[in-house]
Amino acid sequence: MSTQTSTKTLATPHRGAIQRWTQTFIPTSKEAPADAEAISHKLLVRAGYIRRVGAGIYDYLPLAWRVLQKLSAIIREEMNAAGASEMLMPAMEPIELFADTKRDVDYGNNLFKLTDRHGRVVALAPTHEEIITELMKSGVTSYRQLPLTLYQIQTKYRDEFRPRSGLLRGREFIMKDAYSFHLTLDGPGGLGETYDSMDRAYTNTFTRCGLDFSRVEAEAGPIGGSASHEFMVNCDAGEDVILRCSATGYAANVEKCETGERPSSFDGDPTGDLEKVHTPNLPGIDEVGKFLKVKPGNMLKTVVFQRVDDSKQPWVLAVVRGDHDVNEGKVKNAAGGPVALADEAEARAAGFSIGYVSPRVIVGRDDCLLVVDPDAAQGTDAAKGKSMFWATGADEVDHHVKHFNWRREMGDVLNNSDYVKVADVRNAMAGDPSPRAEDAILEEGRGIEVGHIFKLGTKYSEAMGLTVLDPNQDRVPVIMGCYGIGVSRTLQACVEMSHDDDGVIWPTALAPYHVLISPLKVEPDSDLMTTATSLADELAAAGVDVLIDDRDERPGVKFKDADLIGIPIRLTIGDKALAESSVEFKRRGDAGKGSLVKINDVVDACLDALTGD
Ligand code: ATP
Ligand code: MG
Repeated sequence: MSTQTSTKTLATPHRGAIQRWTQTFIPTSKEAPADAEAISHKLLVRAGYIRRVGAGIYDYLPLAWRVLQKLSAIIREEMNAAGASEMLMPAMEPIELFADTKRDVDYGNNLFKLTDRHGRVVALAPTHEEIITELMKSGVTSYRQLPLTLYQIQTKYRDEFRPRSGLLRGREFIMKDAYSFHLTLDGPGGLGETYDSMDRAYTNTFTRCGLDFSRVEAEAGPIGGSASHEFMVNCDAGEDVILRCSATGYAANVEKCETGERPSSFDGDPTGDLEKVHTPNLPGIDEVGKFLKVKPGNMLKTVVFQRVDDSKQPWVLAVVRGDHDVNEGKVKNAAGGPVALADEAEARAAGFSIGYVSPRVIVGRDDCLLVVDPDAAQGTDAAKGKSMFWATGADEVDHHVKHFNWRREMGDVLNNSDYVKVADVRNAMAGDPSPRAEDAILEEGRGIEVGHIFKLGTKYSEAMGLTVLDPNQDRVPVIMGCYGIGVSRTLQACVEMSHDDDGVIWPTALAPYHVLISPLKVEPDSDLMTTATSLADELAAAGVDVLIDDRDERPGVKFKDADLIGIPIRLTIGDKALAESSVEFKRRGDAGKGSLVKINDVVDACLDALTGD
């Protein structure tokens, strides 16, 4: 049998859009919202892309909607190519769906809930694990139906405590969320395989959006290891702190980032007699330090955690230097089980003077584990070659002590690993040793989290009873992964990355329109307007999306707005140029005036510029 090569096709060639400015809604303005901090937020409002309806709730106006459509199209292409199928789940979900996973409790106040006319409570989905797991329960019974990856692009609801920066942190926002289902972790059809293909799909998506991004290790999932990665747009406006080792390419969210080995020793002579100081009404470590005339780097900060599971040793105390931040995930690892910041009242009742706790408090108690960060576990100040001076709490309200000495104050318990451990329990910082290469150090940057991929394991399938029959006819829980992209957040991240003082600068892939044609006279039958419409037709036939600025406005107004909305190419049609059968061609972002291009060459010039030739 021979395979015939057909010349027939179902697809019609893609024709670009033509839109007249006066027939759409682009409410540009000089005023930026008073509460806007991020430049991308200001520009999106000023350029008429979004409008605030309420806290964290926005209209996506026509220009923004076109960008979101283009972004969604890229995401769909990459997800489909990775073998995922699109579907759509409801935004409303009955609260009963959370009965087994208890996520209505975990999500706390972030979960929007409403009561219907019959008194039944429904939640507005912050993410869809429960709904899709329930769906799989109804239709997947055998391993033969796996692996399977489903996704949707849907509105999500989270009652964020502080919605901010426009679309970067909304309460209603658009997310692409995907879920995968597997019999095995590894091997063909396993979770690892799909995780890797999602990883590639995300890398392709954000690359196609023209973003400068990092793929970083994120807080580990329930499986442990590096089972979670975030995609971060590298930019200062981001809320997340990222650390990198340029020698190895290792990069991680500060929530997760390890540090290389930091040497420690409790040995060192006392710097003086232990001295108690009255320190009333001082709210933080910096104020206490100023009052005591001690640098935060010479203070020990002791934070009290409680084990979440029952334990004979319910209290876990983390000690870091005063200028460092405790990392809860690391405390959990050091403690060998889940912990939460201690309830203040319970901690007080158990004898901890919250705010004034010192490592000494564990002496003589058998219900505490003390985990000391290596930088705090220092008896000698190596840099100065003498004993280390420490100040810390006095385990008494409104009091601190000076000249704390580890060996003198703690005694034998320091040598008992059942009660005292030295472990990395602080956030990594710039200058820390890299965990991946000797002699390399970590550098710090900020990022906007636009995507997150996660190996979930059996967390949801076990909680909700999603099982399949394996090849041995045994019933086993399904292994899951989940993968999110903040679609509306990505739109704004692109603007945060690509703009100048005058406005947005879109890359070809996401631009709402590729070419803005600006006739300087707009009477319907003027030569300028006729040229504009015929050029628009030719461009559209070549697949280019065109916006015609047919407003009867002064050139200055048109040019300012053109820069503000950020269309990649502006073609200005005026009498002088037209007399030479030319138009003015200007790329957004290029300085100065444009250049004259013959009308016959304009379509090619546009296509060359848009395709990067
Ligand atoms: P964040 O840490 O920023 O609150 P998250 O880790 O809780 O986000 P995920 O549950 O991982 O968010 O959601 C997947 C993606 O959805 C995120 O990577 C992010 O891009 C986007 N996203 C999450 N919350 C918001 C929000 N409030 N507004 C806009 N996008 C959001
Ligand atoms: Mg996340």
